[in-house]
Amino acid sequence: MWRSPDPKQEYDIVIIGGGGHGLGAAHFLARDHNITKVAVLEKGWLGGGNTGRNTMTVRSNFLREDSVPFHEMSLDLYHELSRELNYNLMVSKRGMITFIQSSAANRVAMQMANTMHIYGAEYRMLSLDQIKRRIPAFDPSPNMRLPIRGGVYQPRASMVRHDAVAWGFARAADARGVDIIQNCEVTGIRKEHGAVTGVETTKGFIRTKKIGMAVAGHGSVVASMVDQRLPIITQPLQAWVSEPIKPILNEIVVIRSYHGTYFMQSDKGEIVVGQGCDPYPSYAQRGTFSIVEDATTSMLEVFPTFGRLKLLRHWAGMLDIPYDGSPIISKTDTKGFYVDVAGSGGFKTIPAAAKTFAHLIATDSPHPLAEKLGLHRFASGRLLQEGGVSSNR
Ligand SMILES: Cc1cc2nc3c(=O)[nH]c(=O)nc-3n(C[C@H](O)[C@H](O)[C@H](O)COP(=O)(O)OP(=O)(O)OC[C@H]3O[C@@H](n4cnc5c(N)ncnc54)[C@H](O)[C@@H]3O)c2cc1C
Repeated sequence: MWRSPDPKQEYDIVIIGGGGHGLGAAHFLARDHNITKVAVLEKGWLGGGNTGRNTMTVRSNFLREDSVPFHEMSLDLYHELSRELNYNLMVSKRGMITFIQSSAANRVAMQMANTMHIYGAEYRMLSLDQIKRRIPAFDPSPNMRLPIRGGVYQPRASMVRHDAVAWGFARAADARGVDIIQNCEVTGIRKEHGAVTGVETTKGFIRTKKIGMAVAGHGSVVASMVDQRLPIITQPLQAWVSEPIKPILNEIVVIRSYHGTYFMQSDKGEIVVGQGCDPYPSYAQRGTFSIVEDATTSMLEVFPTFGRLKLLRHWAGMLDIPYDGSPIISKTDTKGFYVDVAGSGGFKTIPAAAKTFAHLIATDSPHPLAEKLGLHRFASGRLLQEGGVSSNR
């Protein structure tokens, strides 16, 4: 799939982090900007961070005018990438139904719909009968804590095979000459006169004038190597799957009023369940049992039949959540040090973030669709507070 080269002494650009964001940025640096003297340094194995741990949902139902076009571009790219990379990302257009359980939720859904319609994205309201016709197993308990009044539906929301995204980008970047170096941890960053000069790694020192950081869950650690503070908090996010069963659920279902509980059926037949982040900072790659209990209880209020399923597997990752929930794609106070902080739902943003991050590193100016995503927003106070992120509890 790709070579395993020893690191060279010098590169034009070093990307730290071999997840979807880092590998995607390397691909777009080579494809869009013809810069191929690039290394991606990964301390473990490709996709072994959050990219291979997520629940594979991609969508663009967001609240803010600055968010929707960015996420729409990501969806567009996801639907083209299998052909472009000549690698099957198993993009499966499922549609996402978010239940509406209060007038406040209804108001937010209508605001989102208005913003999305401005950008040509489809987002429409569903009655209870329409939900039932789409999902025969939908059987909400009459004693629900918050009764379901209806739903809102994004037909283009999809599931995408997560590790295939990392592997597809890696193979394409490698074919264009990018060096992908696994088991190579960045342990320090050297700088002189306010500009980076290279990275210290477990495989030796590598000279470079430009470093792109894409290390979801470790952003504060790596940025501190150049004394850069980031406005983020690192929190665990967990997911779990049932034993596989025959196809019963096509759509991705979200019970936002129950702490963002969501579930869907994977192509292997497992029911995949998740919720918002655990509500405390941690670097442990495991979660709290109360979240599993709460999300499972929430799911069973709507789909009691899933109560007969057995739990098969459970895991967690660590997310760097910016204070306003939106991604950060930015220059920093150190010349030549650029950051891509994926945020809470950073799988869906991989193609758009990778493309705009590559643009920023190559040209030193932000891509038009990512102009508002810089660190400057935390100084000016023009935050992108986003009601559509999944970490909101
Ligand atoms: C349980 C769970 C469910 C999720 N579900 C969804 C979802 O359905 N939809 C969605 O959009 N998002 C989801 N996410 C979020 C999404 O997975 C992440 O935001 C996204 O994968 C981040 O990608 P990345 O490439 O930035 O980071 P990662 O894939 O984490 O890659 C970063 C890499 O950097 C490496 N690294 C760290 N430090 C160093 C160092 N010093 N030197 C070298 N390498 C280093 C790590 O080993 C890692 O491989 C979920 C996350 C979790 C944990």
